[in-house]
Amino acid sequence: MTQQSISFKQNLKGYRASILTPYSYMKQPILISVCIGVIALCLSMASAQDWREVSDGTFTVFTAAQADDEHLSEIFKILREAKLELRRTWGLAIPKDIQIYVHPNIESYSEATGLPWYVAAIANREDLRIDMQRAKVLLERQSLEKTLRHELFHLAQEDGLERWQAEGWAMIFAGEQPLVKALDGVSGEELNQMLEGFVDREGLARANATAFVWMQRELSTQVEPTEP
Ligand SMILES: [Zn+2]
Repeated sequence: MTQQSISFKQNLKGYRASILTPYSYMKQPILISVCIGVIALCLSMASAQDWREVSDGTFTVFTAAQADDEHLSEIFKILREAKLELRRTWGLAIPKDIQIYVHPNIESYSEATGLPWYVAAIANREDLRIDMQRAKVLLERQSLEKTLRHELFHLAQEDGLERWQAEGWAMIFAGEQPLVKALDGVSGEELNQMLEGFVDREGLARANATAFVWMQRELSTQVEPTEP
């Protein structure tokens, strides 16, 4: 089955084990990244592109648009710094052989991921792969670094996190700041479902904001002494 034949919603439904979420609304808003640690997506569609690859032994970045090649050094710099910081700050190790596909246009991106335009990127934990929109587009929205850091976090995160925990934590690591209000009165299970089965940009943004606030609270209480 090709990814083309799967609708967006069906797509997400199949990935219960994944982490979906992302990016908050940032200052220059709009793009949200969704991360899914999943059963292999049929990402073979990627082969339809004329991809060029550059590798440093840990990260292999695939590009198809010449304009994106100009940002390769910046992309590698962000990835390497994030890798060091993940280890230093939280003791999280990045797996080797991570592939990053920088799609040359929204058609290529949506075809490979099944995601809408407002989702900036997606991480596949099983395949150790990140699919993202054009570097140039993300740079214009000042979200290239945040997007890469967010997705990289998902590839390094420990197993067993709830979806909202993973998303909130990834946002915090990425330096994202939600610009919409967190939701009131939702349960953890409901929030997980909202993150997984979002239907529009606003809904995903509100769910992300909620995950961010909850995780911020959780991390802040972890450093305080617990009562006997
Ligand atoms: Zn995420």
